[in-house]
Amino acid sequence: MLGAKVYREEAEKHRKILLDMGVLDINFKIAYDGDYILLPLKEEIKGYNIVDYNFLPIEKRKTSLRDALSKKIPSSYLLKLRAFDTIGNIALIQLDDELIPYKNVIGEALLELNPSIKTVFRKDSIEGEYRVPTIELIAGECETETVYQEFGVRILLDISKVYFSPRLSQERKRIASLVKKDEIVLDMFCGVGPFSLMISKRAEPKRIYAIDINETAVYYLKKNIVLNRCENIIPIIGNSRNEIKNIESPNRIIMNLPHSASDFLSDVFSTYHKSKVHFYSVSEDISFVKKKIIEEGKRHAKKIDFIFERTVKSYSPHSEIYCIDFDFS
Ligand code: SAM
Repeated sequence: MLGAKVYREEAEKHRKILLDMGVLDINFKIAYDGDYILLPLKEEIKGYNIVDYNFLPIEKRKTSLRDALSKKIPSSYLLKLRAFDTIGNIALIQLDDELIPYKNVIGEALLELNPSIKTVFRKDSIEGEYRVPTIELIAGECETETVYQEFGVRILLDISKVYFSPRLSQERKRIASLVKKDEIVLDMFCGVGPFSLMISKRAEPKRIYAIDINETAVYYLKKNIVLNRCENIIPIIGNSRNEIKNIESPNRIIMNLPHSASDFLSDVFSTYHKSKVHFYSVSEDISFVKKKIIEEGKRHAKKIDFIFERTVKSYSPHSEIYCIDFDFS
C-alpha cells in the first residue's frame, strides 16, 4: 500500500492537507518510522516521498502500539519506535538500542493488538550474499515459515533463511503492469520470486528466468510456482554472473540487488545486445547511480536511455533505495 513519508514535526500539517485533498486513506492507521510518520494514501501524489508499507486497518487495532506501551516505556524512547512489517502472521520490528531492553514488552504488545500476528521477531542488520536478516524471537511462537499475500499472489517463505520485503509490493505491481505479451523476462536476483510471480500472475510474458544464488530461496520459489500455478517461470540456482550467459536474450531484466547490482552491469552489457532494465540501488544520491550506469555503458559501447526513476524506500538516514528504469542498446 502507498504511504507519504513526512517528518514527525510536520505530520499533522500534512495529514490535514492530504485529508482535504481526499487522498488520505482514513481506513488505515498512521505508522511511525523513527523521526518520520507514514500517512496511508489512496493513490500516489506528487510532491511527497512515497513509500510502500503494509498499513494496518483501523478496526484491527483499537489502541496504537505507542498508546499500549505509554505506561511501560519512557516517552522519549517511545518516539524511537519504528514501523514494523508484517509478513503473513509474523511481525518484524527493528529496535533502536534504547528500546532493546524493552523488546519483550514491545513484542507482547504487538501480539495483543494484532490478533492475526502469532510471532514477533526483532530484526537486526541484513547481511551477507544472501541478504538474510539476523532475527531474534521477542514474543509468540518460534515459527519462521509463513505465507504472505499481495495482489492475489501467495508467497511461502522462511524469513530466517531468505530475503523478503513486503515494502516492495507496489514496485512489483508497477513492473508487472509494464510487461507486454510474450516478453522474455530475466529476474537476476529473484529470492523467493516476488517479482517473477507477480509478473507471471498479472501479465502475459512468454518466459521468466528467475535466478538466485541462495538454494533455499529457489526451493521456496519452486513451491511458490506450484502454489500460484506460474508455469512460465524457470527457476535457476546459481550465480547470475555465469547463469545469464546460458539464457536467451531478454526483453526486460530486473536487477534487484541494491548493494551490488552495479557490479553486474558489465556482465549484462557484455552478454546481451539490448534490453530494458529495472535497476535497484542504494545510494545517497540518485545521480551517483545514473553516473555509474552511464560509465559502465560507455565501457561497453552501449547507448543508455533513462526512462523512469523513483525512490522505492529509505534505507538509512542518509541513503535511499532507488529504482531506475533504462534501455540499453
Ligand atoms: N528480488 C527478491 C525480492 O524482491 O525479494 C530478492 C532480492 S534480495 C535484495 C537479493 C537476492 O539476490 C538474494 O536472494 C540473494 O540470495 C541473491 N543474490 C545475491 N548475489 C547473487 C548472485 N551473484 N547471483 C544470483 N543471486 C544473487
